[in-house]
Amino acid sequence: MMNFQLTLRSMFERGEKLFPKKEIVSRTPAGLFRYTYAEYARRTRRLSSALESLGVKRGERVGTFAWNHHWHLEAYFGIPCMGAVLHTINIRLSPDHIIYIINHAEDVVLLLDEAFMPLIEKIQDQLPTVRAYVVMSDKSELPETTLSPVYSYEKLLETGDPGYVYPDDIDENDPMGMCYTSATTGNPKGVVYSHRGVFLHSMSMGMADTVGVSESDVAMPVVPMFHANAWGLPFISVWLGTKLVLPGPAPTPLTLLDLIESEKVTLAAGVPTVWLGVLKALEEGQFDVSSLRSVLCGGSAAPRGLIKTYEKKFGIPFLHAYGMTETTPLVLSSRLKSYQQDLTEEELLDIRSKQGILVPGLEMRIVGEHGDVKWDGQEMGELLLRGPWIADQYYNDSRSAEAFADGWLHTGDVAVIDEEGNVKLVDRTKDLVKSGGEWISSVDLENALMAHPAVFEASVVGIPHPKWDERPVAFVVLKDAQAAIGKQELLDFIKDHFAKWWLPDDVVFLTEIPKTSVGKFMKRTLREQYKDHFVSAV
Ligand code: ADP
Repeated sequence: MMNFQLTLRSMFERGEKLFPKKEIVSRTPAGLFRYTYAEYARRTRRLSSALESLGVKRGERVGTFAWNHHWHLEAYFGIPCMGAVLHTINIRLSPDHIIYIINHAEDVVLLLDEAFMPLIEKIQDQLPTVRAYVVMSDKSELPETTLSPVYSYEKLLETGDPGYVYPDDIDENDPMGMCYTSATTGNPKGVVYSHRGVFLHSMSMGMADTVGVSESDVAMPVVPMFHANAWGLPFISVWLGTKLVLPGPAPTPLTLLDLIESEKVTLAAGVPTVWLGVLKALEEGQFDVSSLRSVLCGGSAAPRGLIKTYEKKFGIPFLHAYGMTETTPLVLSSRLKSYQQDLTEEELLDIRSKQGILVPGLEMRIVGEHGDVKWDGQEMGELLLRGPWIADQYYNDSRSAEAFADGWLHTGDVAVIDEEGNVKLVDRTKDLVKSGGEWISSVDLENALMAHPAVFEASVVGIPHPKWDERPVAFVVLKDAQAAIGKQELLDFIKDHFAKWWLPDDVVFLTEIPKTSVGKFMKRTLREQYKDHFVSAV
């Protein structure tokens, strides 16, 4: 066979040639913008050509600091197809981390949303490698700014060549992109994606037994394009000519529901907190969501109750999946096997609320204290991964040695696996609650609490305890803050599902659970704020 290089150019050109009439819809500050793949492709080539005239060379990093919209999608292919590296920067990080990331990656150009100009203005003095700022905006004139040199994206594009020819000698192992994980301690860690990794990951996203993205889908990545490649949806969509709906700056549940209804979205992807918010809006209003064939949910554990309500009450199929920035990200997806269909509804839900089975193309181990764990759904171990879209190191980072020892990515996730190969994440290593020498899964307790109809969100955290080392405490946000629900009612609701010593020692009612930059529960903050909870109680 030919040693054909698996690069983004051939993915881009397929979408361009075969699906010129298909549409991309983008929510911008000015409203809904739509154009065809033909127009998308011309503008993407213009972008590459314009970046080249700004002096961007092969292998150099171009940063993006933006929401999900058509400009960002142009950058997603325009930068890697010319041989440069697309560096998506998480807009929600602290200024210190943003400075660290841009300097560590040595970005030479930064593409940013107009709304983020004030933020970047404040830190530009600390960004010595950035040679040009390009502002993505609907307006032709830029507001006054101290950014320098600064360009309007639209004006810059006019100078670019719509017939710009992409090089066909890019090596498939060359970097095409990078993204930093929002490390909970220390500086963020950079992951570099190769053309080959993204090409093969996109193929896996299209398999019927995983997410099964297809040309006939209307895909809406709610997961930000600065977070783990928006789970790869932009790449596979352009390749297949799938209609994309990009929900723009800070979309609310109502915005998302309006887009689902008006654009007939079939596949929408986001973290559980997004789907919890959308669920509340669905329960309060009238929306036609019948176009949805699947809600893809990952990033943290999808609560069983959430899956059940979407499917039973609203008829929306839910697909639970697992991945990490380090894994491009798709690793596990939760689908039933053909011979499992006649299990009871509750048994089916039990399986589907697990993170699922390994997608084709990857290899996995779950390693406990005594080596590989038994496939009994009980024995816990750390999930280890390897495969063509799994990173083999962090970018210029001494923390690589530990995380990538012996040719495997050590995920830091603790899991069990059942006899069918369904993996269930028990916790992140650092979030497991250690009580009297035994481990308690905070995720299981959270899921059980969130199944209570009055509970909006629940997070369980191990709090230092004078006698037991740590004891679980539940932090709960009610749907209706005035509801007369007390600690005992919630504990009674979950008590049959757990050993007595697993039950939280306390339930603290909050108006909001602090979240990380990508919408996950910020357990570290809760742990810190409540670290004396038991000490002061004794
Ligand atoms: P960050 O580290 O910034 O949160 P990532 O998206 O890379 O960003 O996080 C990956 C982690 O998210 C995984 O290691 C795992 O702990 C968690 N995760 C992802 N998907 C799931 C899921 N379906 N269920 C439980 N945890 C998940």
